Amino acid sequence: VKHSGKNNYMFFDTEMLKKLKEKVEIENVLREALKTEGFKLLYQPQIHVKTGWMIGCEALLRLKDSPISPATFIPVAEETGLIMEIGKWITKEVILQVAAWKEKGLDLKPIAINFSAKQLNDKEYLAFLEKTLKEKGVEPQYIEIEITESILLERTESTIAFLNQLKNIGVKIALDDFGTGYSSLSYLTFIPVDKIKLDKSLNDKFLEIDNMKVMNSLISLAHSLGLEVIAEGIEEEAQYVRLKTGGCDYIQGYLFSKPLTIEEIEKIYNHNFLK
Ligand code: C2E
Ligand code: CA
Ligand code: CA
Ligand code: CA
Repeated sequence: VKHSGKNNYMFFDTEMLKKLKEKVEIENVLREALKTEGFKLLYQPQIHVKTGWMIGCEALLRLKDSPISPATFIPVAEETGLIMEIGKWITKEVILQVAAWKEKGLDLKPIAINFSAKQLNDKEYLAFLEKTLKEKGVEPQYIEIEITESILLERTESTIAFLNQLKNIGVKIALDDFGTGYSSLSYLTFIPVDKIKLDKSLNDKFLEIDNMKVMNSLISLAHSLGLEVIAEGIEEEAQYVRLKTGGCDYIQGYLFSKPLTIEEIEKIYNHNFLK
């Protein structure tokens, strides 16, 4: 452009440089965290809609010494390939947590792990998962792997084969962020999922009365395919009431609980959220 003088280019360069610097800084923070046990997990309760009992939880990654959120650092972990090692750390940590609860004699509940698209087709991960479960004496049904639709964008044979291998280990599979973007119901007929997670953006639309038919049919359809349904990002009582009427199985969201530390979740482990 004619009028974009020197200053404009300089501005552009500074912005780009800032972004790049930020990324390099985050990458360093992540490398350091891997070396120094600098990650921790929070656990957000999932509640059985009909009875109010906690039925499981989702593990969410945090940096111990930094407020940088996963929405910022996960993409960097993915771009740099660090997600492979971080993903294994999360998996081991979650398996150790189930083992610890087993040791304490608690009534075991599955923990969900977020699985990045970048980890797909990593054969080493499958072997690692199986080995760690065996080593720690944890039954695979206590682990749930959350995959997102983006994994399915390329509906390749190897992706489906990978998911089937995951399934064959005995872990559960949930389809995360359902209802965002290019959501297609046909996915549900050819990938081995046990559960769909209705995304917050979708659940927010269900606050409008007009959309209730859509919500109800979506839940019915999932059920008719033999899938369970969990709604996430639930903040409003009205959403809970509607989802309950619509037959949704489980709910996760600030209405019941934010993500908790281990100490906090152990306190409410046998708590009924409706009493
Ligand atoms: P996600 O998997 O969709 O996780 C749900 C996010 O929504 C979490 O944010 C959670 O804290 C937040 N949330 C839960 N209930 C509510 C609610 O009622 N209202 C609102 N506004 N938010 C709610 P978080 O922990 O910041 O994680 C953001 C994203 O980062 C996750 O989205 C996931 O995509 C990614 N992520 C987090 N932990 C991991 C991980 O261990 N591995 C991978 N690969 N990705 C992760
Ligand atoms: Ca998730
Ligand atoms: Ca989600
Ligand atoms: Ca999400």
